[in-house]
Amino acid sequence: MISPIASFIRVPDGPVGVTILGATGSIGMSTLDVISRHPDKYRVIALTANSQLERLVALCRDFKPQYAVLVDSNAAEKAGSLMKEANLNTQVLSGIEGLETVVALEDVQQVMAAIVGAAGLRPALAAARAGKRILLANKEALVMSGKIFMDEVRANNAELLPIDSEHNAIFQSMPPNYLNGLEKVGVKKILLTASGGPFRDADISSLEKVTPEQACDHPNWKMGKKISVDSATMMNKGLEVIEACWLFGTSPDHIQVVIHPQSIIHSMVAYDDGSVMAQMGNPDMRTPIAHSMAWPERMKSGVADLDLFEVSRLDFERPDMNRFPCLQLAYDAINQGGTAPAILNAANEVAVQAFLDKSISFTEISGIIARTLDQVANEDATTLAVVLDADSSARKVAHSMAYGV
Ligand code: NAD
Ligand code: MG
Repeated sequence: MISPIASFIRVPDGPVGVTILGATGSIGMSTLDVISRHPDKYRVIALTANSQLERLVALCRDFKPQYAVLVDSNAAEKAGSLMKEANLNTQVLSGIEGLETVVALEDVQQVMAAIVGAAGLRPALAAARAGKRILLANKEALVMSGKIFMDEVRANNAELLPIDSEHNAIFQSMPPNYLNGLEKVGVKKILLTASGGPFRDADISSLEKVTPEQACDHPNWKMGKKISVDSATMMNKGLEVIEACWLFGTSPDHIQVVIHPQSIIHSMVAYDDGSVMAQMGNPDMRTPIAHSMAWPERMKSGVADLDLFEVSRLDFERPDMNRFPCLQLAYDAINQGGTAPAILNAANEVAVQAFLDKSISFTEISGIIARTLDQVANEDATTLAVVLDADSSARKVAHSMAYGV
């Protein structure tokens, strides 16, 4: 059987070529930080962004990629002129087609999929079709179209390595032959850890009034705004339950979410013999990034050594579904299957943006997602067209609830 996660190891001559989708974001920048520590091992072939042209051009100055992509065509045009002014040989492309081109280039062996949200799906699928090593941060792609994505990975001998810190920790804690089926290899369950976000202890009645600034102020991780709000609602953990089902070929009843406020254990695997394997480290995404890029070897990431005496204690709690209704909605969506996870994801993206725009309150996010799931028909997610259709129907329904238009 060909493993969806890393089936064989390819060793190119010379440095490994890397495309970074979402280079200007939090994961993109951490990836470039890791790469800059290993100029002998990696070279950047392409960098992409949505519209942040100044930042992208500055990165091109530092890393001299062959290609840069700005999805926004106006930004791409301006970037082209800036590149010329700066005497850079980087060729600028635009649109989703530009993203699909730079993941499939022959010189590229690894693709960091770090676009936020559904926008990352098509380029991540293109990387799978091109048989690359995909370093998957963009969990929304798997949530929307898990079966289609995993089938493409298998059919094209691509490698899929999880960047999400929990899934990377689970991968590190699994036995080598886990793709034969978790029961067959003595794995009892996955213990998926969660920090509980900034409102873990807040009075539930105070949640209605929390601001985007408070929601984005995560106690342990510095991340983009969307995932920060997802962490505050715990939808992030819900999306991660779905992500884990696809990556590890299991069902939601084999995944226990465990709140662990210190974010030192990044997840665990419990075995039939009573063993529990955990992966630990400081909360810094450069660890899973370096692990996945170098796998099966190890390399330095720049992350500080874990000082257990300073950590001193590790706590664990059961999640409270009344406080975090989004987590329950995600469990319900994966249990329903079909396009329900794509509908959940789209409604969440719209509701989170509406909260960031101050159009709805924090506590309205879950209600909008629940009502969108009720209103949009669930279908078999057999083709990409069906998934994208569910995504766009859900966006329309959620948008009218969140913005009143
Ligand atoms: P971010 O908001 O910091 O960066 C997002 C990147 O995507 C930017 O480069 C932006 O230009 C690009 N982008 C945004 N919209 C786009 C569009 N429509 N088309 C093309 N590109 C677009 O986000 P982030 O925190 O780096 O997260 C990226 C992904 O990684 C998300 O799926 C997130 O869930 C996942 N992730 C992030 C972390 C973290 O620590 N930040 C941890 C685990 C998983
Ligand atoms: Mg995570």
